[in-house]
Amino acid sequence: MTTPTPTKKSTALTCPPSQVGLCARCQQPCHRYGFGGNPLCVTCRSAVEAARSRKPKTSA
Ligand SMILES: [Zn+2]
Repeated sequence: MTTPTPTKKSTALTCPPSQVGLCARCQQPCHRYGFGGNPLCVTCRSAVEAARSRKPKTSA
């Protein structure tokens, strides 16, 4: 007989739960508040930065 191990839904967040908020883009829990917090999760942040850097430079 094997006892089923309860699978905890552990997030990879390394911040206190009080600083966890929902991502403004994908609505997934992320480190949003406090020191080092960001309204976007790591995935969305990288996506936004990638899209931003992809924009053509405005030549004067
Ligand atoms: Zn996100």
